[in-house]
Amino acid sequence: MPAYLDNNATTMVAPEVREAILPLLADEYGNPSSMHRLGGQSGMLMEQARQKIAAGLNCDPDEIIFTSCGTEGDNTAIFSALEAQPEKRHIITTRVEHPAVLNVAKHYERKGYDVTYLSVDSKGKFDMDQYRTAFRPDTALVSVMYANNESGVISPIKEMAEIAKKHGVLFHTDAVQAVGKIAIDLQNLPVDYLVLSGHKIHAPKGIGALFVRKNAPFRPFMLGGHQEHGRRGGTENLPGIVGLGVAMDLAVKHIDDENTRVRAMRDRLEKGLMAAIPDSIINGDQEMRLPNTLSIAFKYIEGEAMLLMLDQFGIAASSGSACTSGSLEPSHVLRAMGVPFTFAHGSLRFSLSTYNTDEDIDLVLRELPPIISRLREMSPFRRGDEGLDWVDDHDH
Ligand SMILES: *Cc1c(COP(=O)(O)O)cnc(C)c1O
Repeated sequence: MPAYLDNNATTMVAPEVREAILPLLADEYGNPSSMHRLGGQSGMLMEQARQKIAAGLNCDPDEIIFTSCGTEGDNTAIFSALEAQPEKRHIITTRVEHPAVLNVAKHYERKGYDVTYLSVDSKGKFDMDQYRTAFRPDTALVSVMYANNESGVISPIKEMAEIAKKHGVLFHTDAVQAVGKIAIDLQNLPVDYLVLSGHKIHAPKGIGALFVRKNAPFRPFMLGGHQEHGRRGGTENLPGIVGLGVAMDLAVKHIDDENTRVRAMRDRLEKGLMAAIPDSIINGDQEMRLPNTLSIAFKYIEGEAMLLMLDQFGIAASSGSACTSGSLEPSHVLRAMGVPFTFAHGSLRFSLSTYNTDEDIDLVLRELPPIISRLREMSPFRRGDEGLDWVDDHDH
């Protein structure tokens, strides 16, 4: 792909990660639980990887459990906290979580739990007063994402975790989009559970990690063998684990680049598009935002049409729609932010990584404005001249 700008969806496997994994797909195939030399070698590689993850987050290696993905980590954290406190039947989470959290909350709601979904303002920020007053004596868990995958908006996680701690309530954060972009220091961040995913930080798909703080309750979500000290059954995904360790080292190494060069590229893209394309808005707070993410909306356009046309120029981005059940509804995140209907449909998300170059940005700045002009000329909704003007504050 000439210009891959969809890194919040998934990332390229880093060459260093690929190199580290390849031998494990050839001769080094031992089971870490085996007593022979091949197994011992695998076990050693696995523990080295665990140490790298722990070093990247500043926690103890024993506090890291390998999972199959971010989704499993989120499910496990929530399940653990609720199973360990069966008498507590209230959860606090937010309207803008990833489905890996949102659908777990909905599942427990159907089982009779009360769930408070914190709302966000038009910039994607939480109402902290709503948060402070949401706690109840039977609140079991708070689950708030560290940074939003669509808008890039960063949550005040430290402040929110401290408030939960004051109430004696467990705190989980989905940090899948934060790792590698925001420095994480678990000695200075009072969360009980934190989740990351390999394929969002240049490791392969199918590997993730869950931090569980010492003394935080834990109940295995995956029952089976004694792997991970009985905390997660199933023979370990050694290639994934080793790849994740290398990716974590790289994520720490690249964090400055993400916050300087990558941020500058994102800002140039944002300024260039805003200047070239009238009737465009930025979704989400521009200050408290991941350095790699730009969610931008163009009035009177269908996001999917833009994506297809960009794709012809080798530009990969994503839209702000959740293509569920065949209808192109604006995503739950944009709806929660109250992005006007006429804009929400024309939302694009560009998400960069350390592997992007200035040429990628030049390509988008050259190709997107004429695409928008063409689509707007074809749009029946453009000026309402056919009596079809979309209502701005359509109830959604
Ligand atoms: C991608 C993502 C997930 C899910 O991770 P998988 O490894 O794909 O299961 C969860 N939360 C956020 C914020 C994400 O961006």
